[in-house]
Amino acid sequence: MHRITILGATGSIGESTLDVIRRHSDRYAVHALTAHRQVAKLAASCIEFRPARAVVGTAEAARELEGLLRNAGVPTEVSHGEAALESVASDAGTDSVMAAIVGAAGLRPTLAAARAGKRVLLANKEALVMSGRIFMDAVREHGATLLPIDSEHNAIFQCLPADDPRYRAGVAKVVLTASGGPFRTRDPATLHDITPDQACAHPNWVMGRKISVDSATMMNKGLEVIEAHWLFGAPPERIEVLIHPQSIVHSMVAYMDGSVLAQLGNPDMRTPIAYGLAYPERIEAGVSPLDLALAGTLSFEKPEMARFPCLGLAFDALRVGGLAPAALNAANEVAVEAFLDGKIRFTDIARIVARVLEKAPQGVADSLGAVLEADTAAREAARAALGKLG
Ligand code: NAD
Ligand code: MG
Repeated sequence: MHRITILGATGSIGESTLDVIRRHSDRYAVHALTAHRQVAKLAASCIEFRPARAVVGTAEAARELEGLLRNAGVPTEVSHGEAALESVASDAGTDSVMAAIVGAAGLRPTLAAARAGKRVLLANKEALVMSGRIFMDAVREHGATLLPIDSEHNAIFQCLPADDPRYRAGVAKVVLTASGGPFRTRDPATLHDITPDQACAHPNWVMGRKISVDSATMMNKGLEVIEAHWLFGAPPERIEVLIHPQSIVHSMVAYMDGSVLAQLGNPDMRTPIAYGLAYPERIEAGVSPLDLALAGTLSFEKPEMARFPCLGLAFDALRVGGLAPAALNAANEVAVEAFLDGKIRFTDIARIVARVLEKAPQGVADSLGAVLEADTAAREAARAALGKLG
């Protein structure tokens, strides 16, 4: 039995992961499940999957979860807080860790999994954006296996056979596809009126609210450019973004000889999750087979950078390097939260990130402490910028 910890088990990725595991109960056992606040939902999953451990955000949530589990006769050990998250991500009871917490909150436990030499299934792109070199060094030094779950990076991983440097030497560029989100063709003059629900109504994917807003601004693709840089060692000039509204081609690798390899499939995160769980084998994932005749036309276009300023800001942060990507991510998290809370306009997100980046901390991201300090400083700067918007 392969034992799995799911960080962020109540989220969109967490649920899809449990769905794939449910189909293969002969092969996978759940070691630990974590959630921040959704206690009832976590309890239901604990009752079904019987993990050894469960972690929630607060002592109060832990008491509530414990009560629900005792009533159901489930012996899962309950704990709470960041140290407990790091513990379930690194303890001897788990083989693989699905890193599916949203945002910077996932950094420490995901890094703990890498430092414990686990097989890390990485959905939490923000962790890698913040700490790229530190994270990749930890994977190498501790013999962890890193499997990208983000659909684009999973596609690129599938198109870059084996971890053999000879393949990488022949790569001309990696091409990240993007759906363009719900506002790809909307009149830019009307973008300031968008509500959180409109921004979260993604045309092709059902996801958590933060990543849905990021998809609408295309900051998600910007974060993915930085993620691709670290995962595949690609410099910014060799990373291209292409809008592909049908979300069938999940990304591509172009080689020097003119070959382009792509991975295709219906837009369903259970495909990359199943690939990560079973790698290098393939298992059934519950995804409906791709019918290209039904899909009809597959189209591609270059993104309009003026419509999606967040994409340009992410490329800028990658070129500056050092602590700039951590500042970009932190400013974006604060701005997106403020937008979801109805405090700022959709178009203010890019303005706030740009303001924070102008004064981005100089310096190298050579320690976790430096990264977390840059994250805190950028959050403060973003909150100050929010205040000035009125
Ligand atoms: P979600 O909002 O649906 O779920 C987030 C999970 O993280 C929940 O289980 C929640 O309890 C937990 N969480 C939130 N804040 C926390 C905190 N402070 N401490 C501990 N746990 C916390 O998000 P999602 O859509 O599942 O995305 C999860 C991650 O996967 C994100 O980094 C996202 O960018 C990435 N991702 C998601 C998709 C997708 O299709 N949903 C695709 C690619 C990548
Ligand atoms: Mg993606």
